[in-house]
Amino acid sequence: MTQLIDNFNRKVTYLRMSVTDRCDFRCVYCMTEKMRFLPRDQVLTLEELEFLGRAFVELGVSKIRITGGEPLVRNNILTLLQNLGKLSGLTELVITTNGSQLTKMAQQLRAAGVKRINISLDSLKAERFEAMTRVAKLDQVLAGIDAAINTGFERIKLNTVILKNRNDDEINDLVEFVIDKAIDISFIEEMPLGVISEHERSDTFYSNQQILKTLEKSYTLIPNIENTDGPSRYYNITNTKTRIGFISPHSHNFCDTCNRVRLTTEGRLLLCLGQEHSIDLKHIIRTHPGNMTLVKQAIINSMDIKPKGHDFNINESSQIIRYMNMTGG
Ligand code: SAM
Ligand code: SF4
Repeated sequence: MTQLIDNFNRKVTYLRMSVTDRCDFRCVYCMTEKMRFLPRDQVLTLEELEFLGRAFVELGVSKIRITGGEPLVRNNILTLLQNLGKLSGLTELVITTNGSQLTKMAQQLRAAGVKRINISLDSLKAERFEAMTRVAKLDQVLAGIDAAINTGFERIKLNTVILKNRNDDEINDLVEFVIDKAIDISFIEEMPLGVISEHERSDTFYSNQQILKTLEKSYTLIPNIENTDGPSRYYNITNTKTRIGFISPHSHNFCDTCNRVRLTTEGRLLLCLGQEHSIDLKHIIRTHPGNMTLVKQAIINSMDIKPKGHDFNINESSQIIRYMNMTGG
């Protein structure tokens, strides 16, 4: 049973951990081209990440998602995964990746105890992929997806951000691709996180409602009643193994059942993706190394400041300075 219950009686059982702010891609909605990264001494060490992971699991967290930045470019990430994978009480260890390292690492990830994997992919066209990620690595990512499929993860899901007039004509192609591979896909609405200059977010915003309308013309979608306690709503496509998810952060419906918190690369525990309420866990573990009781009490106390909901508004220029790579998607 979790000891993490906030003032709105929501139980926190899910931690998302950003293990690096660095990345081999520069996706236009996530980063600027010349991104400045944190000095290394401000980033949690692997030992600190493991220590905090253990604290959360002892407090009742049963699911940890490893993310970033690109988690698979962090040196020795497999050691962290192996150690987290051994924690009793942790039933789900999952990861979100851009797929660029999967041909090398898929098998080791599975062996470390990673059961499910999310891979980001916004386009199946090489030039467009490059325009959106600022790297020419489509083939490498497609090979990574196949490597993950051959490794036998329990579930593989693509994460796709659709931007108006950039890749909105690929919605059906991407869905055909996942049906063919018998994997899942989630469409994520763009969020105003971080200051970017490549486009105005209000110009590129494409709602999940529009995507759903497009898909309903070609497929029969049956709502999946499984509750994910988060911003995702799922549908099964009839006669296929594929589920389609819609992650709609602009809708407020999901805040009532929010079950998650986020640990940023620099050790800030963020109580809501769309707000700045946080506590500095790095300061605590660096001033009192190894003091598990103290850090667990700080995490329990943080529940008092978990906000009721977010305030995302795509029409206002970014109110949140923090980039997605710091926070983890
Ligand atoms: N590098 C890994 C990846 O791309 O999968 C993990 C980290 S990335 C920040 C996690 C997810 O956040 C990706 O699926 C990405 O598309 C999404 N993302 C990044 N910036 C976003 C934004 N401003 N709005 C919505 N989704 C965003
Ligand atoms: Fe890197 Fe992921 Fe951000 Fe793209 S979305 S720049 S792959 S962290």
